[in-house]
Amino acid sequence: MTYHAGRHFLQIPGPTNVPDRVLRAMDMPTMDHRGPEFQAMAKRVLTGIRTIFQTENPVIIYPASGTGAWEAALVNTLSPGDLVLMYETGHFASLWKKLAEKLGLKTEFIAGDWRHGADSAAIGERLKKDAGHEIKAVCVVHNETSTGCVSQIGEVRKAIDAAGHPALLMVDTISSLGSLDYRHDAWGVDVTVGGSQKGLMLPPGLSFNAISNKAIEASKTASLARSYWAWDEMLAMNDKGFFPFTPATNLLYGLDAAIEMLHEEGLANVFARHQRHGAATRAAVEAWGLEVLCAEPAHHSGSLTAVLMPGETGADALRKTILERFDMSLGAGLSKLADKIFRIGHLGDFNDLTLIGTLGGVEMGLEASGVPHQKGGVDAAMAVLVSATAKEARQA
Ligand code: PLP
Repeated sequence: MTYHAGRHFLQIPGPTNVPDRVLRAMDMPTMDHRGPEFQAMAKRVLTGIRTIFQTENPVIIYPASGTGAWEAALVNTLSPGDLVLMYETGHFASLWKKLAEKLGLKTEFIAGDWRHGADSAAIGERLKKDAGHEIKAVCVVHNETSTGCVSQIGEVRKAIDAAGHPALLMVDTISSLGSLDYRHDAWGVDVTVGGSQKGLMLPPGLSFNAISNKAIEASKTASLARSYWAWDEMLAMNDKGFFPFTPATNLLYGLDAAIEMLHEEGLANVFARHQRHGAATRAAVEAWGLEVLCAEPAHHSGSLTAVLMPGETGADALRKTILERFDMSLGAGLSKLADKIFRIGHLGDFNDLTLIGTLGGVEMGLEASGVPHQKGGVDAAMAVLVSATAKEARQA
């Protein structure tokens, strides 16, 4: 191993950079998870996390990666053979579908082209045809991390309501929570799945189920096998500030700090910052003469931007050059997008100058790898950031 001076640029779309304040909050001896000190912190975190999901309802916290929370959402609310309607936004929607099938659920995919968010009208049309209410849940990925396309969850809710359909709405916010505006209650979501390692600025290892009353009701009759993921025991213990098994104590201390930081900045400002960085990144991509994968401007993501590779050079060769020359990690194209795109993560603990450093690394990498492009991407991004800063100053 060789020492690389300066900080590594971790610009994959999660896990993201963990701020020092979160690292310091976790840097402590392991403690008694049944003692009063832990209990006070757990109560604070279990209340605080609700604000991040914009819900008044309980949020379950698992010591697990996001995949665990996907599974928890399904096994708590559904029964073997239930039909789940899912939307093919990309790689992660496809993985959630596979997981559902392994659990013994029937799935139906509305096909997508991996360049758009979910089409709420198509979801509404399908539900209207389901007069017998065979479909028990609709699952949508809010921010598809493999493509950088956002689904309009409020519109999906409206489509479900317009169809007069009782299906549960389940949403994956693993790469949008704490980055993009997301409203569990206002959008009538029944189960929201989240993870710690992206907008929440924590290491991987925690994941979440925010749940509605309707989801809790459904869990009373749902018969898929579950034990570790079961909500009922968790809710009963959480009420007292404890967990039914050993929680990830140090990560919870980190989460406590992260929630505090998001509140200090203000959620509205956090969302505006991510939108600004998305806009500046897209301006850079356009100036380079490259193409953003997400084809619908209304679906552009503030968390990440996926860029289509032009010419002969594969995206992985470009990423390799950028890693070796500039010590920056960019996201790879996943499954059918492998080597065709690279993904720039601009979420989490990230500011204007981090973005300019990131885009500078990409622009130098394009040059060093001989990828056909025009200069001026970083300049274009700076222009967006400067004008946004001026606008914010006028509004202040
Ligand atoms: N869903 C989305 C949108 C993701 O981005 C990811 C991981 O990146 C997952 C689900 C799976 O989460 P994990 O890898 O934490 O299990």
